[in-house]
Amino acid sequence: MIPVRGFDGAQVAVLGLGRSGLATARALHAGGAVPLCWDDNEAARSKAEDEGFAIVDLKASGAFEGVASLIVSPGIPHLYPVPNPVVKAALAAGVPVDNDIGLFFRSFATPDWHEMDVAPKVVAVTGSNGKSTTSALIHHVLSEAGRNTQLAGNIGRGVLDIDPAADGDVIVLELSSYQTDLARALTPDIAVFTNLSPDHLDRHGGPGGYFAAKRRLFAEGGPDRAIIGIDEDEGLYLAGQLAEGGGDDRVIRISVAQKLTGPGWHVFARKGFLSEYRKGRQVGSVDLRPIKGLPGAHNHQNACAAYAVCRTLGLAPRVIEQGFASFAGLPHRSQIIAEAGGVTYVNDSKATNVDSAMKALSAYENIRWICGGLEKEGGVGALASAAGNVRKAYVIGREAAQFAMQLSGVDTEVCTSMALAVARAHAEAAPGETVLLAPAAASFDQYDSFEKRGADFIKEVENVLKG
Ligand code: ADP
Repeated sequence: MIPVRGFDGAQVAVLGLGRSGLATARALHAGGAVPLCWDDNEAARSKAEDEGFAIVDLKASGAFEGVASLIVSPGIPHLYPVPNPVVKAALAAGVPVDNDIGLFFRSFATPDWHEMDVAPKVVAVTGSNGKSTTSALIHHVLSEAGRNTQLAGNIGRGVLDIDPAADGDVIVLELSSYQTDLARALTPDIAVFTNLSPDHLDRHGGPGGYFAAKRRLFAEGGPDRAIIGIDEDEGLYLAGQLAEGGGDDRVIRISVAQKLTGPGWHVFARKGFLSEYRKGRQVGSVDLRPIKGLPGAHNHQNACAAYAVCRTLGLAPRVIEQGFASFAGLPHRSQIIAEAGGVTYVNDSKATNVDSAMKALSAYENIRWICGGLEKEGGVGALASAAGNVRKAYVIGREAAQFAMQLSGVDTEVCTSMALAVARAHAEAAPGETVLLAPAAASFDQYDSFEKRGADFIKEVENVLKG
């Protein structure tokens, strides 16, 4: 655990008592603060009470008198679509609002770092898609290279749950836009921006607010080294804003859409080959084609970002390549779950938005595509343009018929349930084809989470393969 510094003896309100909220309360207590905890859910409150934390109704009038700060869980809106009433009350009372990420960055460095030979470093990864894969890949390559590393944030442990840093540690944090939007301190050593496409727009008041939330990772203190995907206008703009000029190698530009060979520091992947250029000369390369855990151009983008981070940390290209080769991928992301009768079954349940599903559709050929679920803002019409490799779409979700209607030009079958979709796709798939779950939608109309949806897909595939 990382004890929170700077609040010794002070009262700090904690709103939301899920995994990160409870970890925050513990870390505040360990640092000498007095956490005042609240969650609208009674079961969550009694769990905190069982641990001995004070439960205080933060909605009551005067609740913020004498409170030094309010710490908010990422699932709770602080501004859009409307601020949670507790957040609003804190702001009205002039109380600073922060989250566990802000507390982490204030508390991570400790006086005993003076005794260390190599100061610990923090790598933070943000972007619309590929955050988990990139973070896990960096962590994997570093571990394989014998470096001490911990993975936390939106993946693995909560940030305040990690072990205090030892000599030479590298902490890899996956940070969502909800997390970067609110944190009052963001001072990673290395920060990554993978890409940007519309997602969570309701929580950020539109695309500008969404980009601004991610951009804060580079602006509130700022990293020593910024690794930026420049395949969208926003990334190109951000890289340009951060660099003094084209030759400034504090910014490493990455791309899977173009060769980057100018002055400065670049990592790009074309046709399955990753290249590193510095000052106009090639200094490293990796053949990504045989790497099973990183299929498709979207994963090559993640590989470019992870490669750039590891190079920054002093690893040699060959060592990084060896780490890539043994990366198994993450569950529910381009996960091959079975190969039978010449048909490959792939679980990409984490493709919860249109962009990630489009990437999945371009990574395979002859696809029997299982899609649908709770649609996000902006509709799914754009998917039709990426469906050239799709033989047929088997649509699930409560609004399956409505979803199917938007896939103009694609052969569709309204299945509604996962069981029927898998059975139909399996029955119609020919050797050489891929049955792919890439929903392009959230899961909450039928499942608690994308993990549960992926697990259901795996179960149904097992059923049909048993015959
Ligand atoms: P995040 O943590 O940002 O949600 P994940 O690594 O969990 O990212 O991947 C989410 C979804 O996006 C998966 O369906 C995955 O296959 C797809 N994906 C992974 N990397 C990328 C990328 N670089 N660009 C677009 N889609 C990606």
